[in-house]
Amino acid sequence: MFTQFALHERLLKAVAELNFTEPTPVQAAAIPPALEGRDLRVTAQTGSGKTAAFLLPLLHRLIGEAKPRVEIRALILLPTRELAQQTLKEIERFAQYTFIKSALVTGGEDFKVQAAELRRMPDILVATPGRLIEHLNSGTVDLKPVQVLVLDEADRMLDMGFAEDIERITGECAKREQTLLFSATGGGKVLREMIGKVLREPVHLKLNSIDQMSETTRQQIITADDPGHKERLVHWLLSNETYRKAIVFTNTRVQADRLYGHLVAADYKAFVLHGDKDQKDRKLAIDRLKQGGTKVLVATDVAARGLDVDGLDLVINFDMPRSGDEYVHRVGRTGRAGAEGLAVSLICHNDWNLMSSVERYLKQRFERRVVKELKGSYQGPKNVKASGKAAGVKKKKTDKKDTAKKPAAKASAKRRPSSPKSAPSTLVSQDGMAPLKRKKPAAE
Ligand code: AMP
Repeated sequence: MFTQFALHERLLKAVAELNFTEPTPVQAAAIPPALEGRDLRVTAQTGSGKTAAFLLPLLHRLIGEAKPRVEIRALILLPTRELAQQTLKEIERFAQYTFIKSALVTGGEDFKVQAAELRRMPDILVATPGRLIEHLNSGTVDLKPVQVLVLDEADRMLDMGFAEDIERITGECAKREQTLLFSATGGGKVLREMIGKVLREPVHLKLNSIDQMSETTRQQIITADDPGHKERLVHWLLSNETYRKAIVFTNTRVQADRLYGHLVAADYKAFVLHGDKDQKDRKLAIDRLKQGGTKVLVATDVAARGLDVDGLDLVINFDMPRSGDEYVHRVGRTGRAGAEGLAVSLICHNDWNLMSSVERYLKQRFERRVVKELKGSYQGPKNVKASGKAAGVKKKKTDKKDTAKKPAAKASAKRRPSSPKSAPSTLVSQDGMAPLKRKKPAAE
């Protein structure tokens, strides 16, 4: 019950109207310390209810002060325009019985219109880093009065190369009293460094949605012989599964475009979303999916991050994601707020070891599924190690002459087995290719 929190009655009224009955785990964990004014570092992904987890305490604080629209009192910084728009909508819903006003500052919109909105002094500013820096440079925004700073999807902002911008912006909010940092993944060294700089004795809440995910989403794998076979399986799944909306994830833009082409040729109302698409196309794709004009989205990871689409109940991993975190992120898009979801990963021989690393990371075994009509010849490796990975075929001893001819191949083969301790952040592809790095926006 939300009434368990000491939230202002106007907020509780809005929450009740939105039919939020039970707080999600991240809300239950984050709202009380946030209300106490503590800094928070929260690991939770989109779909966990994290937006309300930071918005409700923030709004509560701003209502309590009762001096609306004199200065910007809170800044919510996040990576993409779509996420910013979604967050603004959430604020409007929660703040409907208050006088609190918010404004949006993101790229792709008219600068002067934004400057005019900033002059009207919103209480809460929702912004993406690049455009906010432009406003700082032109003196159209003053962040010095900011009391509460929220960094949402901080890991993603760093992935997108915003480290310097964030440093500058947090420096501008030097007088802030509270900082709330959210990231979908544990993040790497850069995130840890940033946390050390921007948070003061934070409460660390780790709400990895791994456990929640497995409760409401069935997770299956289907083996495939090659990309062509995977394409046929995608067609089959989209025609035979019962779903409201589906996302098919690929690891590369090229594959996303290719698959999209096939689907459109087969008369599916589909959209494609990847880093090469401009803002207008991205918005169109997301709006169509949200409104139900299209049921199928083909997307790469970076493009789809932060998407919150109602009724998304089927996720197909055309390629296995490169890390356990990324898998959780993709599959966490289904089964939101307790709804049923299905996640199907298509596994060729070169996906197998990634898949078994993800199984170990999640501490669960995916259901093996066979589509009779499309059964291929690859059914997984002949022998597997205790870890679940493919046991390598013993190579014949090569004589010295042979070895001398192929020094590069030999060197890379030698390096390969040395990295299991770093899984799942560095996963090794099965067929001896170079170790696959985790999260590679460049491939998007
Ligand atoms: P978020 O993780 O903040 O993107 O939230 C995901 C979705 O869950 C949004 O559509 C929210 O409106 C919804 N939501 C958040 N908290 C709750 C709750 N306690 N009960 C029902 N729905 C919720």
